[in-house]
Amino acid sequence: TEFISVSELANLMDVSFAEVISKCMGLGIMVSINQRLDAEVIELVASEFGFDVEFIDMEKQLEMEEEIEEDDAEDLQSRSPIVTIMGHVDHGKTSLLDYIRKANVVAGEAGGITQHIGAYQVNLPNGKDITFLDTPGHEAFTAMRARGAKITDIAVIVIAADDAIMPQTREAISHAQAANVPMIFAVNKIDKDGANPQKIYEQLAGMNILVEAWGGKFQNQEISAKQGLNVDLLLEKILLEAELLDLKANPDREATGSIIEASLDKGRGYVTTILVQNGTLQTGDLVVSGQHYGRVKAMFNERNKRIDEAGPSAPAVILGLNGAPQAGEKFKVYHDEAEAKDIANRRAQILREQGMRAKKHITLDEIGRRL
Ligand code: GDP
Ligand code: MG
Repeated sequence: TEFISVSELANLMDVSFAEVISKCMGLGIMVSINQRLDAEVIELVASEFGFDVEFIDMEKQLEMEEEIEEDDAEDLQSRSPIVTIMGHVDHGKTSLLDYIRKANVVAGEAGGITQHIGAYQVNLPNGKDITFLDTPGHEAFTAMRARGAKITDIAVIVIAADDAIMPQTREAISHAQAANVPMIFAVNKIDKDGANPQKIYEQLAGMNILVEAWGGKFQNQEISAKQGLNVDLLLEKILLEAELLDLKANPDREATGSIIEASLDKGRGYVTTILVQNGTLQTGDLVVSGQHYGRVKAMFNERNKRIDEAGPSAPAVILGLNGAPQAGEKFKVYHDEAEAKDIANRRAQILREQGMRAKKHITLDEIGRRL
């Protein structure tokens, strides 16, 4: 690993970069100003100037604190799948999500209209649930990649049958492949004149993706999101894929999961949509996410109905955090208020130092020094 650049090292030691470069040359190492140095070289050069170097990997340190105990196999129960819908603009992602949401609202339920909270869970007539992430698919994946969280089990790639594989279709496919998330292809707009699903399958085959209709392993379903045609069959295929994945979680532990979105509401304070991925979150739990923390004062489902707990794969809106964590950030429940506060504050400090480093090119967390 390379840590800091020649100029950053010079800054830390309060010497000119020319001096650092010339010391390096004296040691037989040719470097340029912006070149990043590995630990060995940093130590060598620093000692030439009379410095001892101490490497502190703060992020590692915090990750270790975050380490979560594994579940025993006998505590695991199956959980519902978390699905992301992706595809090219105008191919019908929003229409599909809207249709699924409306078709599965429990009749007569108070506040039956689903709020837009970035995720919702549908309860199907066969008793099974599916959680849909209702954030732009590529954003979900970018956030996931940036923070190493895995928040989706299955990707539904929507492709308009009257169009073709488009740039964002390719992007969606490569995101799913990179994250190792199985794909189901929903070929949409089959109600339209000029819809030609075979052409889509052929183009997919050209990308080495063979759908079931063409004897391959990827499930495909022709639908009309607008008319709701075959959407029930698509949901069945999602459940089938989920069964193959054998998704499990332990509902009888403290909750861990990810942030879907967060914002500040004038009346209610910070409003955070979370997705529980393991355990069960309860009202009153002490949650830490990134540099923020707080007790869950109240919890709601996507129909704005008050709930007391949210189990594995359930999205929920929570009130009570002292700030808005970033989308994709993980969260965890703590017992000790002092510990929760300490962890959140230390993360805030690291972020401040990183911000400072970006501005002034000074590294405090990667290299500490003692004269
Ligand atoms: P998104 O950009 O992928 O979210 O696409 P939208 O859901 O906003 O759909 C783009 C346009 O295609 C809208 O005008 C929809 O009404 C239309 N559309 C979506 N699905 C269908 C469908 O199955 N059939 C037809 N005829 N139009 C559709
Ligand atoms: Mg849309």
